[in-house]
Amino acid sequence: MKLLADLDMSGLEQLVASMDQPKYRAKQLMRHITAYDGYDGITDLPKTFVKQLSESYVMRALTEKTRVEAADGAVRYLFETQGGDLIESVFLPHGYGNSVCVSCQVGCAMGCVFCASGHYGLKRDLSAGEILSQVLYIARDKKDVGGVKKIVMMGSGEPLANYAETVRFIKLVTSSDGFDIGMRSLSVSTCGLPDKIDRLAADGFSGTLSLSLHAATDEKRKSIMRVANSYSVTELVAALKRFFEATGRRVVIEYILIGGFNDKGEDVAALKTLLKGLCCHINLIPLNPTDHCELRPCSRKHAYEFCSRLEKAGLSATVRRSMGSDVAGACGQLKNRTVERRRLDEDGKNY
Ligand code: SAH
Repeated sequence: MKLLADLDMSGLEQLVASMDQPKYRAKQLMRHITAYDGYDGITDLPKTFVKQLSESYVMRALTEKTRVEAADGAVRYLFETQGGDLIESVFLPHGYGNSVCVSCQVGCAMGCVFCASGHYGLKRDLSAGEILSQVLYIARDKKDVGGVKKIVMMGSGEPLANYAETVRFIKLVTSSDGFDIGMRSLSVSTCGLPDKIDRLAADGFSGTLSLSLHAATDEKRKSIMRVANSYSVTELVAALKRFFEATGRRVVIEYILIGGFNDKGEDVAALKTLLKGLCCHINLIPLNPTDHCELRPCSRKHAYEFCSRLEKAGLSATVRRSMGSDVAGACGQLKNRTVERRRLDEDGKNY
């Protein structure tokens, strides 16, 4: 079945016209799609029209399978798609505006060694409507605590490898007819595909772009991120400089701190050289240990020391506050654990 949330206003207008309904029905439908209230929530549309619609279109893309709530209010949701795939999204409460972290693919093809999402490879891309539905579901669920004011594409998957749907999602979620969030409240995080970074700026993206750098030399980066075999760190930084020139938006460098690997003086020096002349802020994130990887974080104390060394070197940096660390750790792990439990169940073993 097709998904209503995949349609923009002109798509909805065409749909209602094809069903001999007046144009204003499209606006009514968009309101219900955005409220994520399902067909049951519709009371202002003709019953026959709704029935006919429900024969070809699904209104709610996702079913909640589990949620894990952290003491700090963060919630990790495990959703099932129509086809039975599992995806994760996270709600992060903030006094200045709650945020949601969405997934854009089922699994991931990028193969970063520290990342749980890519452990089983890529299964499929999510559609724009499926990405949007994560936001809509959580905004509805969290209406009482201020809804959703910020969206980060930092869940499972590589947004720029699902480029067309990522851009369609950005258009849908920022549309004044729909969820209507400001572009400035959107962040896209990428492992670094330079040609797609150029395209994103050319396609009018003016939100925050985050680059998952994690190592400042090609040699080190290649040992933890497969994508580093295709693009050098210099090529990446050049693409970020072009992005800044095109958009005027300071970029964010994501840097996972891995104990004894990328947290030394030589790494501060390499970052200083590499990032020279780039308008950026470095986000330091102590690694979240995962089940399938033996890398470990450095201590929080060491993270703060590393941060002040970067600042002394003239770089802007902060250690990211770790939220929801008691909600099944890094992204992808709740899903992996559920999938692995299912497999054990199917094998008839105990867990
Ligand atoms: N593919 C995109 C977005 C998804 S990953 C990207 O690479 O940016 C979102 C962020 O979480 C990335 O910065 C990624 O490197 C980071 N990440 C993945 N596994 C992690 C882990 N175990 N601990 C801490 N951060 C992790």
